Amino acid sequence: MSFSNLLNEVTYRDQRASPAKTNTTNHTESRSQISRARSYASTAATSVSITGDISSQLHGGYSHPLARAWQAERQLTKSMLIYPLFVTDNPDEEESIPSLPGQKRWGVNKLVALLQPLIAKGLKSVILFGVPLGPNVKDTLGTAADDPSGPVIAAIRLLRRAFPRLFIVTDVCLCEYTSHGHCGILHEDGTLNNQLSVERVSDVAMAYAEAGAHCVAPSDMNDGRIRAIKLKLIEAGIAHRVVLMSYAAKFSGCLYGPFRDAAGSQPSFGDRRCYQLPPGGRGLARRAIHRDIGEGADIIMVKPATQFLDIISDAKEIAKDMPVAAYHVSGEYSMIHAAAKAGVFDLKTMAFEATEGILRAGATIVVSYFTPQFLDWLET
Ligand SMILES: [Zn+2]
Repeated sequence: MSFSNLLNEVTYRDQRASPAKTNTTNHTESRSQISRARSYASTAATSVSITGDISSQLHGGYSHPLARAWQAERQLTKSMLIYPLFVTDNPDEEESIPSLPGQKRWGVNKLVALLQPLIAKGLKSVILFGVPLGPNVKDTLGTAADDPSGPVIAAIRLLRRAFPRLFIVTDVCLCEYTSHGHCGILHEDGTLNNQLSVERVSDVAMAYAEAGAHCVAPSDMNDGRIRAIKLKLIEAGIAHRVVLMSYAAKFSGCLYGPFRDAAGSQPSFGDRRCYQLPPGGRGLARRAIHRDIGEGADIIMVKPATQFLDIISDAKEIAKDMPVAAYHVSGEYSMIHAAAKAGVFDLKTMAFEATEGILRAGATIVVSYFTPQFLDWLET
């Protein structure tokens, strides 16, 4: 309604409501009408929503950037982020990974210089993946996984000394170290020998914990490995100082391609669909989450993240008294880079949208290759 129409309307209503007022002078009447019209204009805006549906009026609540930030149940902070690092057995390695833009394989000797500036910007945590490159280092048992002079244990010791406040997570699996590239020890027919695999994986977790890792994170998906690791931690008297983060809902799929390039963990035959979860298996994921909570996990992880937001939401509901982590995996990261490079969207904007979606679904910890950039972006 235009202002002049509104004025006429008000005058008409006023005359009907208070005919005595017509006795006043024209001059006073005119000023009074305008004043009342203004007053009516302001209340009319309110009465529109009051007589209609007041809940339709939302814009005011997010008109300011800070008010928009407050709309989020969880806002991204630096302490939510874990940065994945690929550490090789060549101490001076610094090798780019073409399918994972901006990420490299690092030798132990390069880690301090890499991390120093990131820690100064607020990096709180890293997750280590060992990448053995030496000749004949892989075998059917993944012997190199807990080699005391191997890259992961060497990195744990170095980082504990160099950065006492850095929280060190170690991925625990055998696939980087086995000659066949699977996440455990195999039967002769090529299927996983669950019992031997759990024994071996839990030994590797113990080796990392005893070397000083703050958190061990088994990603192998063998049944019962959380319980086995927890019992060994208790038996060794270190359960009170080691966080056990379970890759409880880890789905199989094509989003791990760049990671396998980085870690050299492509299976030499078959795939991992008999132990990683089928992408449609929501109920199975819920059962795995329940199981791993019961077996003593301290944190539940969902992986990948943006294709599995419903599972993150399920994890938050099931593990409501525990932190939920999500791994924004290599394929998700590389897709964003590829699309941004093709001009589909702005890299930073999409990195935030993807990560905020993960938080909205229920995670409070995000393993992200964008971590170094977020440390800068969150400053501004
Ligand atoms: Zn594995």
